[in-house]
Amino acid sequence: MSYTDDELLPISALQHLVFCERQCALIHIERLWADNALTVDGHLLHKKAHDNSHELIDGVRVARSLWLVSRRLGLVGQADIVELHRDGSVVPVEYKRGKPKRDRSDEIQLCAQALCLEEQLETSIDRGFLFYGKRKRRTAVAIDASLRDQTGAVIARLRNMIDRQQTPTATRQPKCENCSLIDLCLPDGQRFRNGVAAWNQRQFAVAAGDDAPLTDSYDFLSAEAN
Ligand code: SF4
Repeated sequence: MSYTDDELLPISALQHLVFCERQCALIHIERLWADNALTVDGHLLHKKAHDNSHELIDGVRVARSLWLVSRRLGLVGQADIVELHRDGSVVPVEYKRGKPKRDRSDEIQLCAQALCLEEQLETSIDRGFLFYGKRKRRTAVAIDASLRDQTGAVIARLRNMIDRQQTPTATRQPKCENCSLIDLCLPDGQRFRNGVAAWNQRQFAVAAGDDAPLTDSYDFLSAEAN
């Protein structure tokens, strides 16, 4: 199977899916987006990493903002940093705000990047790193069979959800408090329960001057929500 350009899904969606299926659907099916303090912080951190430069540091070629694509998996995205070492090893490094999460979403995103790089560079990758803003140091991640299996399963779930074009109903969870989409999702169940139709209605009201807009512009490929 080789996916076409139009069929490629953003790697960032994997992280959204692991965090919350509804959040993923709101962003990647209904095209809704809103920032909160956590996402703004994340954007700033990524802006620093995404300066499109390449440099040689202690014999390691460091490539920033490298575009990644896997036709086999149907994924596209951008790596914060890819290190090309003298011994031929290729190492992706992803920057994250805060500290390691309870779920494996960051590892899965990193693994998906590694899978893309393996396909693009015809190599094999056995490790990557996550750099957390709060810790200010790297955490090594083994790109092993277990992480590859988990990543493959999340990719399959994402593909399935996008193919079905169905947004799951909201279920209130503790993590909703940290979700930038809480005002659009309304997990306690209110105006936007019906998804995009209700959202459209809201936007017409905004256009008519009835209320202030709820969303900012949405960057499909680089969106990183929490
Ligand atoms: S508010 Fe809660 S249920 Fe809604 S998208 Fe966010 S995490 Fe998911």
